[in-house]
Amino acid sequence: MSQRISNGLAERRVLGFAKGILLDWDGCVAVGGRILPCAKRLIAEHADRVAIVSNNSTHLPADLKEILAWHDVDFPQDRIFLAGVEAVRDVAQSGAKRVMLLSAPKIRDLARTLGVPLVRDNPDVLVLMRDARFSYAKLERAANALRQGARLVVANADRTHPGPADRVVPETGALLAALLACAGDAKFEPSVIGKPGPLLFQRACQHLNVAPQHAVMIGDNPETDGEGALRLGIRSILIGGASSLKLEDLLEPIAA
Ligand SMILES: [Mg+2]
Repeated sequence: MSQRISNGLAERRVLGFAKGILLDWDGCVAVGGRILPCAKRLIAEHADRVAIVSNNSTHLPADLKEILAWHDVDFPQDRIFLAGVEAVRDVAQSGAKRVMLLSAPKIRDLARTLGVPLVRDNPDVLVLMRDARFSYAKLERAANALRQGARLVVANADRTHPGPADRVVPETGALLAALLACAGDAKFEPSVIGKPGPLLFQRACQHLNVAPQHAVMIGDNPETDGEGALRLGIRSILIGGASSLKLEDLLEPIAA
């Protein structure tokens, strides 16, 4: 970790010049559905240039907008890009005929609304995301679907995300590890929709109408937020455990 005497001064300058600011959700804007006070201030300081880019696969943009609204933050829903929702959109556009979706119920509802043909068995596409009702029976059906040649799409490959009271929340990647452990010698190349893949970053930059080199990603995970941004030429600012910086270091000092 580099010696840092500026307490975020250089990063605040970078934010000041950025035309678009992409913000991670878990561990950055919120922990366990509670908005961090610093995130509230950061969003207010850069309101018209911020998009939220998250590997979250259990919520809809409307849910995050509502959580923000409870904390008196008015944030446009169309600037919230979530891996689960984008995975469903992608599969809906792919023309897949039989889709097995392991997800939260509200993501299944979204899939039905978008016309995704959901099946229990023999899918041509298996879509995996955080499913709090994941079970032995689902694992068995999904592993055999893969062995029979289904294409695998995963919302993200994160194994956990930070929860309240320093606990971890098992993520899609943990379910993916269980699935791959059962799938035998067959080779699978999952399509990963979330970070560090390019899709969420690209959709956010397009929506903000900024070129990647004029955008900055703020996140707490070097492997997803940092690496994904780097691949597209987006500058990244890491905060939290992986960095000597905290989110509050990115706020403009309050004038005395
Ligand atoms: Mg995070």
